[in-house]
Amino acid sequence: MRIRVLGSAAGGGFPQWNCGCPNCRGVRDGTLRATPRSQESVAVSADGADWVLLNVSPEVRAQIESFEGLHPRGPRHSPIAAIVLTNGDLDHVLGLLSLRESHPLVIYATERMRAGFTDGNVLYRTLERFPEQVTWRPLKLGREETLAGADGTPCGLLVEAVAVPGKPPIHLENRPGARTSPDPEDNIGLRVRDAATGRRLAYFPAAGGIPPAVADALADADCVFFDGTFWSSDELPAQGLGAKRAADMAHLPIGGREGSLAALRGRLPSARRVYIHVNNTNPVLREDSPERKEAEAAGWTIAWDGMEVTL
Ligand SMILES: [Zn+2]
Repeated sequence: MRIRVLGSAAGGGFPQWNCGCPNCRGVRDGTLRATPRSQESVAVSADGADWVLLNVSPEVRAQIESFEGLHPRGPRHSPIAAIVLTNGDLDHVLGLLSLRESHPLVIYATERMRAGFTDGNVLYRTLERFPEQVTWRPLKLGREETLAGADGTPCGLLVEAVAVPGKPPIHLENRPGARTSPDPEDNIGLRVRDAATGRRLAYFPAAGGIPPAVADALADADCVFFDGTFWSSDELPAQGLGAKRAADMAHLPIGGREGSLAALRGRLPSARRVYIHVNNTNPVLREDSPERKEAEAAGWTIAWDGMEVTL
């Protein structure tokens, strides 16, 4: 299985258009040891020919152009066989509307995510230009599905959805008349298995905690991508960037006694370990920061755009 990181930053990217935090300022003016990152999305492939996108960021067009594996091999063609969504946040789904040039799309998502994106969304009609333009294939928690392209040809990968503590996307919160209670299908992690080799990727870019079912899903993976949004729980308020703490946004921070670095220490002995969905405020983006060194000393890599892992 080949895994190609198309984008490694959390929503907003790095730098973020309206952010003048020390990280964003420093990467703009070149005074930081850090590289810009686009918003999180990863491509996976069993054979190097057909690719599956995990999430579709608002920067999908540039991300496709950045990687020749995703370039067309004919006058009208795309190597993107299917798309899998981990939640309905705009940084994960907005790119779907950019893939509107009358090409059949196959999207695997929970029913909650499908409804959240399509219901009452007049812009979704741009993906309904012809009857089969989008094929939604439902992901059910705990059930492994064979990933296949629009013509039904399997692409050599299987995926299972795992419920992860999370929340609905901000734009679906507090809608008049809508069901607002959180649902296990709001936010999922993915176990991706190569049908031929049995090698496993655990892809968990947004996690508000690590309950036993999530820990089990991580434990048998050969490679783990995990939520690297924040280093500390008060990262935004501490920098004067609003009142929301990491927990309010359903992200488990990396650092601290309660963080994922401590929670997962010694529990993923053989897996390649990667933090992704890194917010622009996170000190791990600075290659010479103590936080970066602490994560790397524990065996973690901070994902970057263009990073590749082969399992
Ligand atoms: Zn910033």
